[in-house]
Amino acid sequence: MAEVAWRRWGVALGGPFPARFSEPAWSYEERVGHRCPVCEGELHSLRRPYESQGRVYRYTALVCPACPTAFTLADVGAKTYDQLTAVPSMPAPVPMGSCPSGAGATVTAIRVPGQFPAAVREGRRPAWPEDLAVPEQAEKRALLWCKVTDPAWRPAEEVLAEADDVRVSLPEGPEYDTLRTWLREHDVPYRVSRYWEEAEQVGTVNESGGRTDLVAVGPGDAVPAAGPWAAAARDAFTAQ
Ligand SMILES: [Zn+2]
Repeated sequence: MAEVAWRRWGVALGGPFPARFSEPAWSYEERVGHRCPVCEGELHSLRRPYESQGRVYRYTALVCPACPTAFTLADVGAKTYDQLTAVPSMPAPVPMGSCPSGAGATVTAIRVPGQFPAAVREGRRPAWPEDLAVPEQAEKRALLWCKVTDPAWRPAEEVLAEADDVRVSLPEGPEYDTLRTWLREHDVPYRVSRYWEEAEQVGTVNESGGRTDLVAVGPGDAVPAAGPWAAAARDAFTAQ
């Protein structure tokens, strides 16, 4: 279950959970009508089939990617799964593309990928160290993984529409409240880091929503990296 949450939202769920939550074979189901009992964020259901006396039933876990944590049906005051989907008062989801320029938010375009500076095109990186295994570089997923250190950062809507794996890591602190709200409204999963992190972006989607090779962009004016360097950055991101 935690694995599904990690793959889908890039969040590590805090426990403790019922033992069944750590069994295999969970899969994503849908967004449900109930809201997170902790933060009022959106809840999504994950389900896992099991058999009892010849019949197949399904366990339910409810995940709040914003907290991030998981709940049982009882935690949100439901007795059956159907009660979750029968709630009519669910706010309409914010459609992609309706934002982001309004409401006084400063829109910062995502830098690169796609337009590599000359240094990347000309391969002026140091050679990959001989004693290091070259990471697997093929990357077919449309990735947008960002460590954000600017409260005014907003991903472009074309980028969100194209990326099928979006992960955002941002600092805690009230100056990021507006950004967190924006991300929730746009169904963008994020996690809050308690540690200082440098800005970084690893992805295969450029700022106009086109696909690129895997590129990693570091903080400031650092030269974007491609090839094994970008793959290493991707793998490091996954390991965190
Ligand atoms: Zn929550």
